[in-house]
Amino acid sequence: MTGRSENLTELGLLPRLKVLGRCLSVGCPRCGRRPIAGLFSFQTRCPGCDLLIDKGNGFLLGALPISYVVFIFIWLFPISAAWFVKQIPYPVAFGLIAAGAVVIPLLVYNYCKMISLGIYYFFMLAELNETAKKDLSDES
Ligand SMILES: [Zn+2]
Repeated sequence: MTGRSENLTELGLLPRLKVLGRCLSVGCPRCGRRPIAGLFSFQTRCPGCDLLIDKGNGFLLGALPISYVVFIFIWLFPISAAWFVKQIPYPVAFGLIAAGAVVIPLLVYNYCKMISLGIYYFFMLAELNETAKKDLSDES
């Protein structure tokens, strides 16, 4: 237990925030090369440092709940509020929400994958360092 906490102290908060910032700006968590994700494209490996971005087997499954949360805050709540204060009739609000429930998650999904990746490496920064060392030793 002490070894683990010492390791986290060595890695520090600033590198974690840097990695999170890279992911939130659609860059590679290791080298920062961007864009890793576009509206309809997502790189599975970084072209800059060859980091495996999508490890498969549901590695980026966190993007699903994140996209639902984004949908709720940018679409469901505002339209529900507009209906609640009687600015738009119920059928219009229902239609907008139903259409948004399909379209919004599709539009934000790749970005939500990057958020999920950033959260993963925020907590698992050591793994990012370990794979960098392994890749370097593979090259030599
Ligand atoms: Zn990279």
